[in-house]
Amino acid sequence: MRIIAEKDFENFVNGLIARDDREVVGVQSRNSHYVFDDLEDAKDLALDYDVTILPPKKYLMPQTEAILEYEKKKGDFSMEPLLEVEPRIIIGIHPYDLIAIQQMDKVFSDTYEDEYYLDRRKECILIGVNMQNVSDRSFAASMGTATTDSGYDLMLTDLGDKYAVEIGSSKGSDLLENAKTRNASSEEVEKVEEVKRRVKEKFEKELEFSPKELPTLLDQNYENMNFWEENSETCYSCGTCNLVCPTCYCFDVEDVNEITMDSGKRVRRWDGCLLEGFAVVAGGENFRDNRAERYRHRYMRKGKYIYDRYGDIACVGCGRCASQCIPDIADPCRVYNDMKEMEAE
Ligand code: SF4
Ligand code: SF4
Repeated sequence: MRIIAEKDFENFVNGLIARDDREVVGVQSRNSHYVFDDLEDAKDLALDYDVTILPPKKYLMPQTEAILEYEKKKGDFSMEPLLEVEPRIIIGIHPYDLIAIQQMDKVFSDTYEDEYYLDRRKECILIGVNMQNVSDRSFAASMGTATTDSGYDLMLTDLGDKYAVEIGSSKGSDLLENAKTRNASSEEVEKVEEVKRRVKEKFEKELEFSPKELPTLLDQNYENMNFWEENSETCYSCGTCNLVCPTCYCFDVEDVNEITMDSGKRVRRWDGCLLEGFAVVAGGENFRDNRAERYRHRYMRKGKYIYDRYGDIACVGCGRCASQCIPDIADPCRVYNDMKEMEAE
């Protein structure tokens, strides 16, 4: 573990910005919220944030991207893949978002290696930060994601007038090479452990049982349509809960033709299982045209389907869905606790 004084940290970050070989983005304050955005000065970083509107997945899997272009010329048809990879450093990722990225890494390199995601991921350096403040809708401590020992290239812990820096990879260690740092003392190492212990006590919301029980609990309640219908009664099918989630990765692919119809682009963009058209297939059939079924699908996916396939509970407890759902019905912590309570009655 290394220690870097606050001023030297600012110089380090400004040095990365000045190098111009990678885009540098970091958490900043915007209109009383926090966002990951292009960083122009280390002073703009807000590393004591609680949660950002969107997770950093937007840099690995953009909301919209053209994946190929096609052209028809004198009867010949040609296609060219398009892949723009901007080498990037992302500063200020909370542990739950780092764990979500690790889950996405598995998904995008499973049966089909998605080069659009993987090439960006390879060119990305992730600098995490241990949480100082906790969103009031987050329940990351219950999900085991309030801290992490992996998934980062560098991990920062604020120790007042200095940062402790844990090195997670050779990319991280290379990056730190030109920074003015020193070895951490045993007291400083212990202080970092204390910060990690203390953060777990800051969460107001908690899952009242082990997340390991979720797959079985959901399996037992799959057919409990009264529960799903009651909970989804006020759902607008707006898809916000999917789109803000760091572990949701579904996308739609569409061919966008030029008006001349002789060229165009194939575009992929985020999609979400709560949106009405998500499960529509050719011919117009919709496998989940019922709102309660769509609502149920999201919880099944988070707590059972992804677990069955990859061994991960696909909710890291960030609380974004809960805080951004207008009728406030998207909170997995509340829904899972209610389900558990119902079982006990
Ligand atoms: S649960 Fe909430 S955020 Fe999700 S689709 Fe329904 S209304 Fe939108
Ligand atoms: S389901 Fe909600 S709380 Fe869980 S990871 Fe997604 S946005 Fe965060």
